[in-house]
Order: sequence, then C-alpha cells, then structure tokens
Amino acid sequence: MFLRRCILFLSRLKWLRRWAENSALAQPLTRRFVAGQTRAEALAVCQRLNREGLLVTIDCLGESVEDPREAERSREEYLRLIEDIARHRLLATVSVKLTHFGLDVSESLCWALVGDVARHAHQHGTAVEVDMEGPEYVDRTLRLVRQLHREHGCVRAVIQAYLRRSEQDILQLCAEGIPVRLCKGAYSAPPTLAFQSRREIRTNFLRLAKILLSQGTEPAFATHDARLIAQLESSARTDGRPRSDVEFQMLYGVREVLHGPLRRAGFKVRLYVPYGLAWYPYFMRRLAEHPANLLFLFRNLFRRAL
Ligand SMILES: Cc1cc2nc3c(=O)[nH]c(=O)nc-3n(C[C@H](O)[C@H](O)[C@H](O)COP(=O)(O)OP(=O)(O)OC[C@H]3O[C@@H](n4cnc5c(N)ncnc54)[C@H](O)[C@@H]3O)c2cc1C
Repeated sequence: MFLRRCILFLSRLKWLRRWAENSALAQPLTRRFVAGQTRAEALAVCQRLNREGLLVTIDCLGESVEDPREAERSREEYLRLIEDIARHRLLATVSVKLTHFGLDVSESLCWALVGDVARHAHQHGTAVEVDMEGPEYVDRTLRLVRQLHREHGCVRAVIQAYLRRSEQDILQLCAEGIPVRLCKGAYSAPPTLAFQSRREIRTNFLRLAKILLSQGTEPAFATHDARLIAQLESSARTDGRPRSDVEFQMLYGVREVLHGPLRRAGFKVRLYVPYGLAWYPYFMRRLAEHPANLLFLFRNLFRRAL
C-alpha cells in the first residue's frame, strides 16, 4: 500500500513526467503496456488482436491537459482515429479521458470537443468509452456521459468499485440504459470516499457486478483478477444472461493467458490498447497496481545499460 501511494505520488510530478516522456528510455520502458507511439502502430496491433478474436478499445494517451490548443489537438487525433477504425472495419471503440480534452481548463470546451468525438463515432458506427479519472472528476464525468448518451447513444460509462458512492451511480446508469465498464479504480482516494483494502474492493466489485448483470445494458467487467473473473462467470451463469452479452475487458500487455478461456467460454473479450507519447501517468498507474512490474522496469533498464 505504501509503495502504491509513493508511485501514485510520483505519477503526479510534472517535471518527472516531462523528463520521462522526452527520455530515450521511453520506448524500451513502455513497450509492454503501450502499443506504439503512432496511430498507425496502434491500428496494426488492433488488426492483429481482431484477427485473434479480440475486441479492442483504443486510447490515445494524454491527460491533465492545461492548454486549450492541446485539447483541440486531442479532438483532431480522435476524429482521425475513428475514421481509420471505420476505414479498416476494425472491431474497436475509442476510450477517452476528459482531462485530455481540457476538463481542468474549461468544462464547456471539454463538452464541446468530446461531443464532436461522440458525434463522429456515432456517424462512423463505433462508440466512445469515457474513462473515469480521480474522485474529483466523477460528478462532471457522469454528467457529460448522460448528455452524450441522450444526444448520440454510443457511449459507455466507467464505474470504479473502490468508491463508496458507486452503487448509487450504477443503479442510476442502469435505469437510464447507459452501458457501464466496471473496474476496481486506479487512482488514490481517501477512506471517506473509497474502500482501501483489496478485500473490500473485491466484495464491492461483486455486489456492483450483480446489479450490472441483472439490470445493466452490455455489462463490461474490466479486471485481470482470476478469482474475481471465476466468480463473475458463475454469477453470469446463475443470472441466465447469454454469455455473448457479457464483456470482459483487459489492458494490453497484462495477463494474456486469461483471454483464450473466456473467449472459448463464449464471452466477449476487449483489450484496452493505448498509444502515443504521453505515456507517463498511464505507465505509473500500471506500476502502482502491480509493483512487481518494477522488476520488469529495472530489468529493461539494466539490459539497456549493458
Ligand atoms: C480495460 C480496463 C479499463 C480500465 N479503465 C479504468 C478507468 O477508466 N478508471 C480507473 O480508475 N481504472 C481503470 N482501470 C484500472 C483498474 O481500475 C485497476 O486498477 C486494474 O485493472 C487492476 O485491477 P485488477 O482488477 O486487474 O485486479 P488486481 O488485483 O490489481 O490484479 C489482479 C492480477 O492481475 C495482474 N495485474 C493487474 N494489474 C497489472 C499490471 N498493471 N501489470 C501486471 N499485472 C497486473 C496481476 O497478476 C494481479 O495479481 C481499467 C482496467 C482495465 C482492465
């Protein structure tokens, strides 16, 4: 827990982020979790995964944008990405973070830019999954998701099982017919807002999953926790939902061994495929949730130094 907190603290240091993202070490360090630096590289990975029977959601890395021009560039990149997905007939959605579209600068700018992305996605037959960031963004994110759902329909919300408020949120989203991706939660949040122990988070995940299975539209479970996945599989069975209605989502580069059995059992499996240069916060969250990744990091650094 202490190590996790330290890594999440480091993930917020802007100077370290600037240094790391411009360093020659970027590619060797990140290649396990990041599909590449360019859209073309991400599309090639997506094509390969689709051929293997896996669905994809593509994320152009970026968050905490403070310059409105950068937020506009994020929109342009996502519009091109959506066109490429349609042109290559890929089985892929896009995932966005609202702070990549300037939520910290201006809520109205962010709404306008993400609105354009959702409209484009709708016109090109795909969908937008709106990632959930730290607890200070939850209300604003859910407000925008509802608006996008009303206007375009092609949107999926993310709910984090570590937040105490999530049961209320999920019930409301289910009542409105908004699809949900349920995950544990990758940010730090105080005990007043969030469960802290793994056991409590897993218990809440299961409770929320049961709501999604019985009342939700296109339920998606984003986890690599094999024990939890086995419990979700059996809940899906007792709930009587067709397996093809239920989606498991995993991160690119994490526990590939889980994909095959889920696919063969008839569930959908979707991989979250990030690309781009702004990899630092994403990569640090991957270290924080599984500190054993530090070994992988040091091994790569060591190999390069030799
Ligand atoms: C598709 C997808 C989308 C997500 N979207 C969001 C989001 O919008 N907002 C948000 O807050 N969080 C998001 N997350 C992250 C999520 O909240 C968790 O932090 C993350 O998935 C780790 O939790 P876990 O359920 O895999 O269980 P854990 O108990 O953390 O992990 C179970 C096992 O999986 C393996 N594992 C897990 N993570 C890693 C890793 N990084 N590297 C190597 N092995 C690992 C380990 O073997 C570990 O023992 C997303 C996760 C996924 C899979």
